[in-house]
Amino acid sequence: MSRAAAATSGEVLRLIREESVRTRAELARLTGLSRPVIGQRVTDLIEAGLVVELPGVSSGGRPAGRLEFHGSGGTVLVASLGHTHGHLAVCDLSGTILRKEPVHVGAGIETAIDLWKAMDPGPVRGVGIALPGPAHEDERIVKAVRDVFPVPVHIDNDVNVMALGEHRVRNDVADLLFVKASTGIGAGVISGGRLQRGAYGGAGEIGHIPVPDGLLCGCGTVGCVETVAGGAALLAQLGGRARDLPELAALARAGDLEAVAVLREAGRRIGDVVAAAVNILNPAIVVLGGDLSGKNLIAGVRESVYQRAAAMATRRLRVEPSMLGDDAGLLGCATMILDHVLAPAAIDASL
Ligand SMILES: [Zn+2]
Repeated sequence: MSRAAAATSGEVLRLIREESVRTRAELARLTGLSRPVIGQRVTDLIEAGLVVELPGVSSGGRPAGRLEFHGSGGTVLVASLGHTHGHLAVCDLSGTILRKEPVHVGAGIETAIDLWKAMDPGPVRGVGIALPGPAHEDERIVKAVRDVFPVPVHIDNDVNVMALGEHRVRNDVADLLFVKASTGIGAGVISGGRLQRGAYGGAGEIGHIPVPDGLLCGCGTVGCVETVAGGAALLAQLGGRARDLPELAALARAGDLEAVAVLREAGRRIGDVVAAAVNILNPAIVVLGGDLSGKNLIAGVRESVYQRAAAMATRRLRVEPSMLGDDAGLLGCATMILDHVLAPAAIDASL
């Protein structure tokens, strides 16, 4: 296929949105399309609310308009739901959070839909949802959402989505391992700039890698690292001194020696399996997120990873806390659904 034939309206939008191409002349040069054809593509995108034309600078003749992606030309709805709590948001087409609300997860998807409606989202172009556990497309949830918002709906697991969010704010990094330490332990793998889900959606399930003194796990096997370093294990190790993970984290922040020691040791145990993942994937950065990922747990992870992973993989490796915290899941959901609804083929189909 020639370059010109490939340059549909969707491709023109991609050039404006991702490559920051600003003028019709530049678009014509890059695509090989004639000025009238480029003009029609741009007009279609402006009419669809996806591109705006700003006054350009005159250089003697007729001023050339500056083309920009219209981030406020629509919205996407996102929800990041953990095992116990979560957040909902409305984002613009640039992925910026416009409005955000906490939500209780037992409440069901209908509650989320009602909250989104109450947030007055404007023209919705897509919905992205992160759920805990292995990645799966939940037909019931997709149908319930589409009955109210008839747009593309995408679901992925919370850890994959958080990895996408962290990758978006570190876009100079192509290889990133995101590790969530919370009730469960899991990882999201960004390799070569893309999220890797594996053949059956099971990539990054590091919580179920066996360790020497691991116990019987809820997944049915014996020895998973989650049984010694997951949230339930840590609460048990503290003998009921913390009722939940936020309380445990607060104890450690207040300097409670027992809580600090429990989190540091959990970090070492998680670090043992992360070290193996680092050897396999050679990421540039390991990002720690989740309720338990304070400085104590991260110190433990660093200790194990730098001790146990191969020198070649760790020489320039960074092990850092999440830059986004609670927002990693929401921004990752926005990235997931925007990559889908703004993809050239999706734009061409919608125009
Ligand atoms: Zn397990």
